[in-house]
Amino acid sequence: MTIVDTPERRQLRELTRAFVTKEVLPYLDDWERAGEVPRSLHETAAKIGLLGIGFPESVGGSGGDLLDSILVTEEVIRSGGSSGLIAALFTHGIALPHMVASRDDGLIDRYVRPTLAGTMIGALAITEPDGGSDVAGIRTCARRDGDHYVVNGSKTYITSGVRSDFVTTAVCTDFPGSGSLSLLVIEKGTPGFTVGRRLEKLGWHCSDTAELSFVDVRVPVANRIGPEDTGFLAIMQQFATERLSLATQAYATAQRCVELATRWCRDRSTFGRPLASRQLVRHRLAEMHTRAEAARAYVHDVAERVAAGEPVVTEVAMAKNVAVAASDFVVDAALQLHGGFGYLRDAEVERHYRDARILGIGGGTTEIMNEIIAKGMGL
Ligand SMILES: Cc1cc2nc3c(=O)[nH]c(=O)nc-3n(C[C@H](O)[C@H](O)[C@H](O)COP(=O)(O)OP(=O)(O)OC[C@H]3O[C@@H](n4cnc5c(N)ncnc54)[C@H](O)[C@@H]3O)c2cc1C
Repeated sequence: MTIVDTPERRQLRELTRAFVTKEVLPYLDDWERAGEVPRSLHETAAKIGLLGIGFPESVGGSGGDLLDSILVTEEVIRSGGSSGLIAALFTHGIALPHMVASRDDGLIDRYVRPTLAGTMIGALAITEPDGGSDVAGIRTCARRDGDHYVVNGSKTYITSGVRSDFVTTAVCTDFPGSGSLSLLVIEKGTPGFTVGRRLEKLGWHCSDTAELSFVDVRVPVANRIGPEDTGFLAIMQQFATERLSLATQAYATAQRCVELATRWCRDRSTFGRPLASRQLVRHRLAEMHTRAEAARAYVHDVAERVAAGEPVVTEVAMAKNVAVAASDFVVDAALQLHGGFGYLRDAEVERHYRDARILGIGGGTTEIMNEIIAKGMGL
């Protein structure tokens, strides 16, 4: 069976499509202008069981696995949503998994359950102003002081950082840049923790992005996820799902843009004939479709292997790069086929063009993926 084939998954697709049509599409332009999605959207998505997909019922989730999460991401975008919406509404997909894996009931009760119920928002903070690719080089430090840590440092480009109630934060528990990392859950409102300005971006306009600052922030030791110095491993283990989500956003954006461009080329006539009747245009659409479908098939294949527990770090990196390359090609071609209209805010393809650009940067850049692939080749 492939991801799309079970009756349950067809139902999940329908549920997602109905949610996007009713709860997202009428408001998405407003959220893009506001720079964030409302909290009520999290609650609505939670009530129908969408927010908890991919998380076990034992921690407040709706059940399902990685493949179900991928299906939801794919369907949100194919129904007219966007990767920016995925980033904003499903930030918990990167903020919670370390806590769930740690099986720490205290953290699960305080943060995981309310977030999956849509009443709390979480974020994940790894990247720092000095660099994001070099995770081991993190300089935000946590010094132990009795049953607290005292945290000093800063983070940047943090998705949902403006709205979040807590931040799963990567800190160094030895000297800065030592690579000895731990993850601490730091609550909004803790003295010394400030959220800086809302960062303005090329795309992902409905997803708020923040700078965070920590000055002598006292965080209870109970808020550490797992044992000290296991943060680097925990981050690397969860990168697989984040990268596959980004890969899914990339191929689904490509698929959506193929649909939009195909419709446009059927309807739009130039020199007395529909664009779709021109061989050059037909071949361009065929190439776009081929690249989107090949990326989808490969990402699904790798996702199934990850879900089955196979150690496929190299393949995950390849899947992300393949899907991002498909998306980069398709969004550009789709916009071009729309002519001047493609450049206007009124065109859906314009948003995908802007939103897609981050997919080869977030969750590990294309170049860092190539490093992983080269290592996998024994280079
Ligand atoms: C909209 C948005 C949302 C984000 N959300 C989050 C979030 O929620 N949480 C979070 O922690 N981070 C987040 N990030 C940060 C993102 O993960 C980083 O931007 C990314 O990992 C790259 O890090 P950097 O920007 O510091 O680039 P750098 O690491 O400074 O890299 C700069 C350039 O150099 C290249 N490069 C770096 N090292 C090498 C090398 N060894 N060989 C060849 N080339 C190299 C990179 O590929 C890149 O092209 C977000 C970023 C954006 C823009």
